[in-house]
Amino acid sequence: HEPQRLAKVLAAAGVASRRTSEELIFQGKVTVNGSVCTSPQTKVDISKDSIYVNGNRISKKLPPKLYFAVNKPKGYICSSGEESKSVISLLDDYLKGWNKIQPGIPKPRLFTVGRLDVATTGLIIVTNDGEFAQKVAHPSSNITKEYVVTIDGAVHKKHLVAISEGTKVDGVKVVPDLVEPLDAQPDAKRTRLRIVVHEGRNHEVRELVQNAGLKVYALKRVRIGRFRLPADLGIGKMVELKEADIKSLE
Ligand code: URA
Repeated sequence: HEPQRLAKVLAAAGVASRRTSEELIFQGKVTVNGSVCTSPQTKVDISKDSIYVNGNRISKKLPPKLYFAVNKPKGYICSSGEESKSVISLLDDYLKGWNKIQPGIPKPRLFTVGRLDVATTGLIIVTNDGEFAQKVAHPSSNITKEYVVTIDGAVHKKHLVAISEGTKVDGVKVVPDLVEPLDAQPDAKRTRLRIVVHEGRNHEVRELVQNAGLKVYALKRVRIGRFRLPADLGIGKMVELKEADIKSLE
């Protein structure tokens, strides 16, 4: 182990997010080798130094970095709180067996990479790798995300043009990379569109569609980067990602 900054080590150990770990350190709740340490920048070696948070000893071993693709059901939220209907709770069964999979290694603290709205379904990545999550979810990442949007009623050329022209989201102009009807009928009760965006701003796709005067019936994410939601991944199910899959997300 190379010595690393205390806040980073606490986050990697699954204590809390990097920011919350910094707060715990500032608040004097962390000791290193018996002394309170109030600087998050202090370099520590988790395999040698004895670190306590709120009086609890931090394990000398770090949990491995884990990555999962989850097929998010409608009605589940992406925050990592204790709510029963959080995307993270879909991994409860996996985490319950953790001590059998990795005896003696602390449980990973999992969170979603970016967010989907509560009503949105489809591909969401869950990990304990904060740097990876930042990199992939950040609006400047330019990683494309593909959605299938089901619209109430018919969609006409003027709507497609309006969506393509983009709209402001969070005060930033967003222009989709692709807008394509999947089953357009002039008198359809519902119409599906494929929309590809790369910013990853909250509510981005809904804003684009609503701004064109259309109503969203359903929204599903089917791809991030070069990684597609596996066709055989049932709603509410997860699959652990292989290294090639993880690379394809960046
Ligand atoms: N755009 C949205 O409007 N909602 C999502 O959940 C994701 C992208």
